[in-house]
Amino acid sequence: MNQKSVYDLAIIGAGIIGSTLARLLSRYELSICLIEKENDVSCGTSKANSGIIHAGYDAWPGTKMAEYNVRGNALYEGLSKELGFGFQRLGSYVVAQNDEELKSIEALFERGKKNGVPGIEIISGFEFLKKEPHASPDILAALWAPTAAIISPYEATWAFAENAAENGVDFFFEREVQGLEKVADIFHIKTGKGNIQARFVVNAAGLFSDRINAMVGARAFSIRPRRGEYVLLDTNVKGLANSILFQPPTSAGKGVLVTPTVDGNILIGPTAEPVQEKTATETTEKGQRNILEVAKRTIPELTKRFAINSFSGLRATPFIDEKQYADFIIEEDAEVKKFFTLGGIASPGLAAAPAIAEAVRDLLDTAGLVLKEKKDFKANRKPFVYFARASEEEKQKLVRENPLYARIICRCEMVTEAEIIKAIHSPIGAMDLDGVKRRTRAQMGRCQGGFCLPRIAEIISRERAISMTEVSKSGRSSFVLQGKTREGIE
Ligand SMILES: Cc1cc2nc3c(=O)[nH]c(=O)nc-3n(C[C@H](O)[C@H](O)[C@H](O)COP(=O)(O)OP(=O)(O)OC[C@H]3O[C@@H](n4cnc5c(N)ncnc54)[C@H](O)[C@@H]3O)c2cc1C
Repeated sequence: MNQKSVYDLAIIGAGIIGSTLARLLSRYELSICLIEKENDVSCGTSKANSGIIHAGYDAWPGTKMAEYNVRGNALYEGLSKELGFGFQRLGSYVVAQNDEELKSIEALFERGKKNGVPGIEIISGFEFLKKEPHASPDILAALWAPTAAIISPYEATWAFAENAAENGVDFFFEREVQGLEKVADIFHIKTGKGNIQARFVVNAAGLFSDRINAMVGARAFSIRPRRGEYVLLDTNVKGLANSILFQPPTSAGKGVLVTPTVDGNILIGPTAEPVQEKTATETTEKGQRNILEVAKRTIPELTKRFAINSFSGLRATPFIDEKQYADFIIEEDAEVKKFFTLGGIASPGLAAAPAIAEAVRDLLDTAGLVLKEKKDFKANRKPFVYFARASEEEKQKLVRENPLYARIICRCEMVTEAEIIKAIHSPIGAMDLDGVKRRTRAQMGRCQGGFCLPRIAEIISRERAISMTEVSKSGRSSFVLQGKTREGIE
């Protein structure tokens, strides 16, 4: 890839927000680059969340959150077909077990109607339990929202980014933006590995969007992270929930949920805990215990035995003048023209992302970015083929075409060598073990990589032509091997 001398547009941050925007704008005759400090897409909050495409009843009417959530939800299904990522419209329930919770779901119902959420209704506990037989018999009523859906957030981010790359967007990885200055109508973006210039800049740096604004002197705000921990359960208990099951929201968040994932696991969580550091993604014994206790109110059969992994993500909670700001910050800066802030994109940012992209396109248009449709825009991305999800007939065809589909590397998730090689060599290819994991699911099963990790490391080493000691878990210096235990062994 040849870096352009001046890009029409530079987007900072390759999470779901930066990637959906890059993909939408890649349909126009523009030179666009996406600048990311990590070595892959979806390394920030977009890789660690509930993966829910919310129906849209949570946000206050009249907010950007409410508008873009409902619109984003409506856009996702079509996008999942064009870009080949998993999307399941399972619908969601918010369950009520006492008078206070009944009032809470009634208020959500009213809010949902004002926000224009299609098909919502409150059903009796009896009706609810017919749909969710493993749920607590104490549930009195539930708010049903048929449009709520689930996706894999990193699969979707990868799909948007890959299609953007196929349509000409340049991706710069491991290029942390360290300085930003506007000189004579051109932005000079100082990165760890050289400068990039652009006429328009969009700040989609998630938890770090406040720092990018500060660099260029745009509106000041601060992001204070709030951690959400999760427990991931094995696929063998997937029948415990058929839909997305929320408890009523609290002041801290949307309430603990129990949800199927697109990969057939059950996910429970999240907690909501303010933390100091923007990198504090560890999980805690207290958090894990708390999630199980609270989730058992919805599904009493849940136990620690079903857990196969835990993880956490950080909500980008925005503060302006020391006061929490209860909406997304989406604006062209009043002072720094042609600089756009997409800050404080906390939940429902994943659900809202495609609608946020549309809104930003319109802002860019108003600010003078010329949007002329390309004749050769490729709207469709070839879906990634998951061997485990193929029918017997399709599996045989895959093996005939490429015998590496017959070599199972990850036995828990039935991931083949062919898939791992394809993930490494795709337009936005996996660079490390976590990159392979997010794309193929290898290492995501019961053994969590205990058996397959060395084989995957060998494949990355061979395909990327790097030594085994250069193979990392997730970039930087997270190398998995330190050296040889005995001399003379290759
Ligand atoms: C616990 C939890 C649960 C959630 N559940 C849901 C849900 O179910 N549904 C929903 O709709 N939303 C949910 N959300 C919200 C959703 O995850 C976020 O709104 C969304 O992921 C934000 O995406 P983003 O692209 O803005 O941020 P990120 O994904 O964090 O992307 C920002 C990118 O910018 C990069 N970056 C930062 N600084 C720099 C720099 N200086 N130079 C270059 N690159 C930089 C980062 O490395 C990162 O890749 C949840 C969030 C959390 C934490």
